[in-house]
This record gives sequence, structure tokens and C-alpha cells, in this order.
Amino acid sequence: MSEESRCFACEIKRHLIEVAPIVDGYDLRSFKCPRCGSMMRLVVPRTVERIDRIA
Ligand SMILES: [Zn+2]
Repeated sequence: MSEESRCFACEIKRHLIEVAPIVDGYDLRSFKCPRCGSMMRLVVPRTVERIDRIA
């Protein structure tokens, strides 16, 4: 699931540091690599993950 958030330079998983709603049903997720600090932003549909957290 988190393959997109991997840092290509360090080949480790970036940490999810922020989730911000942008439009209905979509979130902007900001990922940061803990080693080199490179940032990546992804627009993702609001997921089951979030429903799990509520339930
Ligand atoms: Zn990195």
C-alpha cells in the first residue's frame, strides 16, 4: 500500500506527516523521508484506513 511513499534515494519508507482534506473524498498526504528529508505529496481518495480508525 505504501510503495508510492518510498524515498527513491534512500529506499526507505517516508513518514506520513500530514493529511489535509482538499476536495470531497480526497486527501492531500504529505510524506517526509526521515533520512534525507525529501518531501512528497500525494492526492489520495479517502480510504478504508480512516473508517477503521473511527470504528
Ligand atoms: Zn531519503
